[in-house]
Amino acid sequence: MLAIRANHRVLGFALVCAAALACPVSGLIGVAEGQSPAPVAAATPAIASDARLAGDTQQTRFVLDLDKAIKFRAFTLADPYRVVVDIPEVDFRLPSGAGAASRGLVKAFRYGLVMPGGSRIVFDLSGPAKITNSYVLDAANGQPPRLVLEMEQVDLAAFNQAAAAESKPGRPAIADANAAVSAPTPAAPIPAPMPGAPPDLRPVVVIDPGHGGIDNGTQSGGEVIEKDLVLGFALALRDRIEKGGKYRVVMTRTDDTFIPLADRVRIARNQSAALFVSIHADALPRREGDAQGATIYTLSDKASDTEAERLADAENKADAIGGVNLTEEPTDVADILIDLAQRETRTFSNRFARLLMGEMKNTVRMHKHPLKSAGFRVLKAPDVPSVLVELGYVSNKGDLDHLVSDKWRSKTVGSMAQAIDVFLAKRLAKAGAAN
Ligand SMILES: [Zn+2]
Repeated sequence: MLAIRANHRVLGFALVCAAALACPVSGLIGVAEGQSPAPVAAATPAIASDARLAGDTQQTRFVLDLDKAIKFRAFTLADPYRVVVDIPEVDFRLPSGAGAASRGLVKAFRYGLVMPGGSRIVFDLSGPAKITNSYVLDAANGQPPRLVLEMEQVDLAAFNQAAAAESKPGRPAIADANAAVSAPTPAAPIPAPMPGAPPDLRPVVVIDPGHGGIDNGTQSGGEVIEKDLVLGFALALRDRIEKGGKYRVVMTRTDDTFIPLADRVRIARNQSAALFVSIHADALPRREGDAQGATIYTLSDKASDTEAERLADAENKADAIGGVNLTEEPTDVADILIDLAQRETRTFSNRFARLLMGEMKNTVRMHKHPLKSAGFRVLKAPDVPSVLVELGYVSNKGDLDHLVSDKWRSKTVGSMAQAIDVFLAKRLAKAGAAN
């Protein structure tokens, strides 16, 4: 019971912060519970200049140095264990390598912008913990304003109780904060056509490098981080397709930015894309042995096997890491239409997946079961044929050697571009014949 009471105290404080997050973020300061926020004119984000961890595996404290006080909301997440701090947009100017070293309960922490006007700090924990105290201090005694977070190791039962209390419905301020966090982010800007230029009627291929920003993707490859690896690959694929000149390529991201899964789908739909290709790299937990080769995934309600299910769960967590509300978005089309469109779209998705495997298997090492399906959120556009390619396993030495090799990348990009060309050429021919 003690754990729950303590949590309520912390939660009570967090609610004040949460309410502020839903407000225009830069117009408010004021840090203590019960204190009414004072409006200020400054619209520039707070600057974070330093961050440090102290303590041991029982109790760990985090301090973030700022140039002004900010509102925040802190909460815990399980599977894997994390503490998340939502804050207004902050200009992080931390020393390089900040967050990489483990200390006490914290294995590492990450930080960055997760939506317009909103940043997030995510602490990866070594085990279940609760937030015992969290507050922002004003500048005093020559010290800058600071955000302080204190965490304490708890057992699993106490963690679950605390987490359940955090997510209990009927806590309006938390709900407001979720709304703020899940506010739709604008899709990638669509380049405006040059005045007087004819409209570009070429079919659109959307290439989706997985993860980005605060979401690193899998990191089991040591130095190799999935989000960087797949961005490099996706940009090379874009260049290859654009060189052919037949298709227009739209990227869901071209730099290290966090993009929620629903926005990736939205980009494909807004562009009336002819094809959506999501690029990822996988890793197998050591206890599950070894696996190798590329795998092509399509959408299904039921996963084709347990590995596909595990992977879809892992990939779908991207939103949780970035701070997006996980509830499904309401759709704007009648369900029956979606159902019909989806059936046709799935046929095309599966056709492309088979074509892609046919091309890739000539040049690339494939997984022993190279075609699989599962409930990937990023593949859910009802009207855009979509596949997700796991290029290989960063946890496998041979695959990792391939994944970082320019020669392998060039070959693989070539086979994928070829498959895309065959698929779209067929569809265009069909569409032409039907007219
Ligand atoms: Zn991934």
